[in-house]
Amino acid sequence: MRMSKLLIPTLKEDPADAEVVSHKLMLRAGMIRKLTAGIYSYLPLGCRSLRKVEQIVREEMDAAGAQEVFLPMVQPSELWKESGRWDLYGAELLRFKDRHDRECCLGPTHEEVITDLVRRDVRSYRDLPLNLYQIQTKFRDEIRPRFGLMRGREFMMKDGYSFDATEEGAEEAYRTMWDAYSKVFARCGLKFRAVEADSGPIGGSFSHEFMVLAQTGEDTIVSCDSCSYAANMEKAETRPCEPAEAQVESAPKKVSTPGMSTVEQVSQFLRVSPEQLIKTMILSSENGPVAVLIRGDHDLSPVKVKNYLKVADIELADQRVIEEVTGGPLGFSGPVGLDRVTILADHAVRGISSAVVGGNEKDVHLVDVNPAAAFRVDHYGDFRSAVEGDPCPRCEGKLILTKGIEVGHVFKLGVKYSEAMNAKFLDAEGQERPMIMGCYGIGVSRTIAAAIEQNHDEDGIIFPPPLAPFTAIVTPVGAKSSEIDLAAEQVYRDLWAAGMDTLLDDRDERPGVKFKDADLIGIPFRITIGKKALAQGKVELRNRKKKEIELVEISKIADVVKEELEKWASEVRS
Ligand code: ATP
Ligand code: MG
Repeated sequence: MRMSKLLIPTLKEDPADAEVVSHKLMLRAGMIRKLTAGIYSYLPLGCRSLRKVEQIVREEMDAAGAQEVFLPMVQPSELWKESGRWDLYGAELLRFKDRHDRECCLGPTHEEVITDLVRRDVRSYRDLPLNLYQIQTKFRDEIRPRFGLMRGREFMMKDGYSFDATEEGAEEAYRTMWDAYSKVFARCGLKFRAVEADSGPIGGSFSHEFMVLAQTGEDTIVSCDSCSYAANMEKAETRPCEPAEAQVESAPKKVSTPGMSTVEQVSQFLRVSPEQLIKTMILSSENGPVAVLIRGDHDLSPVKVKNYLKVADIELADQRVIEEVTGGPLGFSGPVGLDRVTILADHAVRGISSAVVGGNEKDVHLVDVNPAAAFRVDHYGDFRSAVEGDPCPRCEGKLILTKGIEVGHVFKLGVKYSEAMNAKFLDAEGQERPMIMGCYGIGVSRTIAAAIEQNHDEDGIIFPPPLAPFTAIVTPVGAKSSEIDLAAEQVYRDLWAAGMDTLLDDRDERPGVKFKDADLIGIPFRITIGKKALAQGKVELRNRKKKEIELVEISKIADVVKEELEKWASEVRS
């Protein structure tokens, strides 16, 4: 692979429309180019990295006993209607009609197709368990495609599906995939964490997300500073707190709070801390409105409320509903005298001894409110998002918040699809039963972006060697001489012969330009061939990450790079 012949259009400047570092660097390194919003072409370097991730994933899936298949991207609406998702899946599902006026969609995921495939050919418990996977392009018409490969509309995913006859089997399949995912991301050389994730209100299901740790991550990971508890923000549990000793015997008092509707405004105006306020949020779901009480300094977790109520969707109620339910305008809702709706309250509300709440009247709040006596709560529960410093739900430790990027997701589905789509098998007693399913995704293209978010510096990408488009780059420098060219050629061949994919920078460029490009595209090892060292039979080996340079005898260079690679792998493992 000679650089003079490869299409590697590197850019000196950051492209204007790229916000995150991985997007900027992949464009600058000439790995990808945008075709249109959320849709990218992979140039040779990008394609090589993609194939490397795919290969690691493939090897670990095969080793775990999963079988590779390749499913169609265009899917008929009938299957999606059977599963019920034709109506439930939002605008991310790209729908269209073919020339015969048949409704189709582009696959954002393949539960329907795989369930249909398996139900046709698998009839007996003897054919189970089964674990099938594919590595394929997915299409999701994301509302805000952004950050390059991080959130594309068209992207590469490994999706796998397991089918089992028993619960125990399904749980074992889940654990096997969990282990395989850990191996995949460890082999990629990434710092990652598996966290408990929300699996919605489906019974018997659970899920974990695999997060690459990076400050720039969109997701927040909640973990304990002393035990192994880790969950994503939606799922992270908070501990119930003890009810406060009542301090107020008197009835709540009305106070005037003209124009003060936010927690900040009210707490400043009344000179109380936000922890003393109770926010009363009126939410709407398909089952009608509900009120949720949250301590002023906490954030509502819509997912937790949704799961508790077992509803598909929940959102803040509009003005009209708020007025109907509370009798007052937005910003002044409160629980006292609220008798037209169910009232849910977060545990922390109990810990407030004398609270400030909305008065259900314009410009009015109530003070001296005792949650234990002044209003009805139908159910106390965990309805808020965790915050840094919260007590761990499992031990005496404290919770800490870190940022991460979701690169993988394992999900025990249970019988959701097999029941809806009638994927049944005959058990040993001849009884017909639904197969128990799991689904497992890896964002193959997102993994490259995540690797770059985690590993870069001001000069460019620092690829972990397993994901680098090339392991090494040979860079002849100085005035053109046949001696240097011959040595470069020899080193280049030696490295390939030793099994390392190597790039030869044979361009007629100044050393500075060559070095800059090599750093930008993040090749782990650079071997510089220059006149001075060569006179002693040596070449320079530079480690992209450590930026250290050592002189190596030309005949030993392939061995030394190999040793360096092994050293890298053992450092990552430890
Ligand atoms: P997100 O929460 O980031 O939107 P998701 O939970 O909807 O993702 P899954 O259905 O779990 O995604 O898909 C499996 C994996 O595919 C994800 O873990 C992620 O790595 C990857 N992925 C999902 N959406 C995208 C996207 N728009 N662009 C790139 N990769 C994606
Ligand atoms: Mg997910």
